[in-house]
Amino acid sequence: MLYRLKNEGYQAYLVGGCVRDLLLGREPKDFDLVTDATPDQIRAVFRNCRLVGRRFRLAHVHFGHEIVEVATFRGINGETRQGERVMENGRILRDNVYGTIEEDAFRRDFTINALYYNIRDFSVVDYVGGMQDHRNSVLRLIGEPEERYREDPVRMLRAVRFAVRLGFNLHPSCAEPIGRMASLLQQIPAPRLYDEVLKLFFGGYAVQTFEALRHHHIFAALFPETEQCLGQEHDGFPLTFLAHALDRTDRRIEEGKPVTPYFLFAALLWEPVRTRAEAKIAEGANDLLAYQDASAEVVERQVHQTAFPRSVGQPMREIWGLQPRFARLTGHRPYRLLTHPRFRAAYDFLILRAESGEADPALAEWWTRFQAADEPERKAMLREAERVPGGTKRKRRRSRHRKAAAS
Ligand code: ATP
Ligand code: MG
Repeated sequence: MLYRLKNEGYQAYLVGGCVRDLLLGREPKDFDLVTDATPDQIRAVFRNCRLVGRRFRLAHVHFGHEIVEVATFRGINGETRQGERVMENGRILRDNVYGTIEEDAFRRDFTINALYYNIRDFSVVDYVGGMQDHRNSVLRLIGEPEERYREDPVRMLRAVRFAVRLGFNLHPSCAEPIGRMASLLQQIPAPRLYDEVLKLFFGGYAVQTFEALRHHHIFAALFPETEQCLGQEHDGFPLTFLAHALDRTDRRIEEGKPVTPYFLFAALLWEPVRTRAEAKIAEGANDLLAYQDASAEVVERQVHQTAFPRSVGQPMREIWGLQPRFARLTGHRPYRLLTHPRFRAAYDFLILRAESGEADPALAEWWTRFQAADEPERKAMLREAERVPGGTKRKRRRSRHRKAAAS
């Protein structure tokens, strides 16, 4: 592929994450190419090529299942240049000015992401001191950090993500402004932030990334209500459910098991949903309705931060909505719950809650046994349940209602 461009007389380099990962001895996720050919010229070289992106126009060249991104060197705005760069309050809205490789290097985000691998002589081209930072395991923005964050606030999230994933130290000059500038993320379109959240938590280092985001005071810019809840304690214990769920995500990724965005978001927003719902229940609301209303309120507020597609919002609410139903162990209810299409995900969620000490472990264990049991055993379990786990929970609730009503 590089050779095709070269044979047509263009310059072609590998750049970005793949060079960085190759230097670290890691297998790159994907390959990014840059060239001095314009998107139209790239299209003329490769038949199997599509031009994509508005903010950042580039070519996708298809090779069987693989897509290789081919970008044209980005330049610095100038009268003589073709293309356009659109700015608003110091933020880059569109960047399609073409230029030289050196200019291209300076508009990339981090020094270690601006290394070019030249296939002509197998050398690494470095204009920004990336090799030095690479050797010292330092993650450093190119240029003036505040200006670079203002141009694109998502770079703050990228800084945290790369530092954790690579085990690099974020240079103090790049770490310091993050807390102050985190609120700039509000300018970023919610769908882009949704994509970034998936990259943050599905990279295999969700727990560390979560801790680093909180450490740099930027988690609140993504999940304000969750951050608020995390500051509080539950019966005198710090809330560990989310960290626990993220740990499970990391382990699933390590084992090559699938992970789903709706489960992740259900976990990220669970504390606000639960807190709101329990407050309503304490005021005497029906528990199923309380969870429904709380879910709607939390989603309503969160979509301003990170939009999510319907395919995420719907199952996420179902997981939440089923949680109070696990405590209802009478009549046909447990059977109906078993056949619910979202039962499995909601049950996994209950297990996580129980493991982190937030839900009753006896209840989670009851559901584990109930699924495995045959019919006579199930009948016996239901008779037993009229007294034990769900029963006690409902009684406790009722007495709380009575107290609330009396006061
Ligand atoms: P990953 O392994 O996560 O794909 P990556 O470094 O390849 O990491 P990409 O998002 O694929 O990250 O971007 C490719 C390259 O484009 C980066 O290495 C960087 O040089 C440049 N780049 C990406 N996003 C930005 C940005 N917001 N600002 C400046 N340069 C960026
Ligand atoms: Mg990449």
